[in-house]
Amino acid sequence: MFRTILLPIDLSEASSWQKAMPAAVEQARGEGGSLHVLTVVPNFGEGTVGAYFPPDFAERALATAKRDLEALCAAQVPEDVPVKAMVRSGSIYHEIVEAAGAIGADLIVLASHRPAFRDYLIGPNAERVMRHADCSVLVVRG
Ligand code: ADP
Repeated sequence: MFRTILLPIDLSEASSWQKAMPAAVEQARGEGGSLHVLTVVPNFGEGTVGAYFPPDFAERALATAKRDLEALCAAQVPEDVPVKAMVRSGSIYHEIVEAAGAIGADLIVLASHRPAFRDYLIGPNAERVMRHADCSVLVVRG
């Protein structure tokens, strides 16, 4: 049923992939589908704040994120599941929804929120993705 799966992860927060990654892998494997792992880097380089960063900061941040994401995928995704690492910059939920459209995702898998934020049922980005995505969303509880 779900063959093109988008797994957005926060590279600085292991809880964003520890349970969601195996769920996404199983879903992709069961259907002979593929996994697209995405991380979004904030847009530091724009506006007044951007003046405080070196000119190539954004470029380097994206390259570092891509390298780290590829290493994570190599370590965590079994070889029989096709996987692609994607990096985008901008507003997190917006880029997740845009990426889902761009790859024709039929499922987005994400963790509900960081475990430290116990009072939240669902984090702000997870909630917005659920509200705005055109495809199904699987929210994996932390
Ligand atoms: P919290 O504030 O508790 O971290 P979020 O809604 O931001 O809650 O996080 C829930 C999920 O949103 C994460 O598990 C991940 O799937 C996605 N997410 C959060 N930050 C990013 C990011 N920088 N890039 C890609 N996905 C992210």
